[in-house]
Amino acid sequence: MKDLVIVGGGPAGITAAIYAARKKLDFAMVSIMLGGQAAWSGEIENYTGFQVMTGPELVEKFKEHLEKFKFDNLQGVEVKKIEKADGGFRVVLTKGEPLLGKTVIVASGKRPRMLGVPGENKFRNKGVMICATCDGPMFADKQVAVVGGGNSALDAALQMIRIASKVYLVNVNKELTGDAVMIEKLKSAANLEILNSTKTLEIVGDKFVKALKVEQGGKSRELSVEGVFVEIGLIPNSQVIDFVDKNELGEIEINCAAETSCPGVFAAGDVASVPEKQIIIAAGDGAKACLSAFRYLSRH
Ligand SMILES: Cc1cc2nc3c(=O)[nH]c(=O)nc-3n(C[C@H](O)[C@H](O)[C@H](O)COP(=O)(O)OP(=O)(O)OC[C@H]3O[C@@H](n4cnc5c(N)ncnc54)[C@H](O)[C@@H]3O)c2cc1C
Repeated sequence: MKDLVIVGGGPAGITAAIYAARKKLDFAMVSIMLGGQAAWSGEIENYTGFQVMTGPELVEKFKEHLEKFKFDNLQGVEVKKIEKADGGFRVVLTKGEPLLGKTVIVASGKRPRMLGVPGENKFRNKGVMICATCDGPMFADKQVAVVGGGNSALDAALQMIRIASKVYLVNVNKELTGDAVMIEKLKSAANLEILNSTKTLEIVGDKFVKALKVEQGGKSRELSVEGVFVEIGLIPNSQVIDFVDKNELGEIEINCAAETSCPGVFAAGDVASVPEKQIIIAAGDGAKACLSAFRYLSRH
C-alpha cells in the first residue's frame, strides 16, 4: 500500500507530486494526460515567474521538474473508481491492477461541456475557444460569438465586448439565465447582439473559423466571426469518487486545508469547490493537499 495516490496530472496533481517527492512519500500519480487543461492554453500570461508562455511550454517545464524525482508516474491511465479499502483506499483503473493508498488526492480537474456540432472539433483552438479569460485578447478588434446564456457565457461576453469589435451572444433559451446585474451591463454595450432562442448548427471555416451557422425562429443565419467561445459550462471529473460531499455543480467540497468530508481523501484544483479555476490556484491547492495528506499520515 502506497502512502499516497494522486489522481490527475494537471497543475494540481503535478504540484502535489513534487511536494510528495520532497517529503519522501511512497506514492503514485495516475493521469490520462499529463499537463491537463494547461496544455490546451494558447498563451499563459498569469503564471508567476513566466511573463508569457504557451500552455505546452509550461507543461514541458512541469514535466522537467517532475523528472527530477523517482515515483510511479502512470500516464495514459484512467481511474475508473476510488473505493474505501482496509487501511485506506483502492484506486480502480480501467485497465490493470488497482492501486492501494493510505491517502488519496483527487486532482482530476474539469472538462468543458461542448456543443457537439459539426466543425467544433476541427476548429478547436483555431477559433473555437473555451476560455475567454485566457484567449480573449487574441480576438482584439475581431468579430466573435459567445455561445451560452448562463453566468459563464455572460462573463465571457462582458470580457469580449471590451476586446472584440462585435460580439454575438448566442443563447438557445428564450432568455439569458445569468445574474441580472451582468445582463444589465451587457444590454448597454453597443457592440453586442443578443440572439435568444437561437440554436447553434455548425462552425465553418478553412484553416480557422470564419462563421457560425445558427437557426432562429426556423430561419438559418450565418454570423461572420473569427472566434466562437463555447461557454455552456464545465463538468468536474468527480465521478471517480462517490463517498465524499459534492456541491450542486458536482465539485468535491473541500475546506481550506484541501480536506474532503472523508478523512484521508483530499482534493485540489478545478475538481474541487474552490471559486476560481486557474493554473496557479490549482498548483497552490495541490501543494496544500499534499501537505495536508502528509500531516494526516504523520498522525495516523
Ligand atoms: C483553453 C484553456 C485555457 C486556459 N488558460 C489559462 C490561463 O491562461 N491561465 C490560467 O491560470 N488558467 C487557464 N486555464 C485554466 C487552467 O488550465 C485550469 O484551471 C487548470 O489546468 C486546472 O488544473 P487541475 O490540475 O485542477 O485540472 P486539469 O488541468 O483539468 O487536470 C486534470 C488532470 O486529471 C486527469 N484526469 C481526469 N480524469 C481522470 C481519470 N478518470 N483518471 C485519471 N486521470 C484523470 C487529466 O488527464 C489531467 O491530467 C485554461 C483552461 C482552458 C481550458
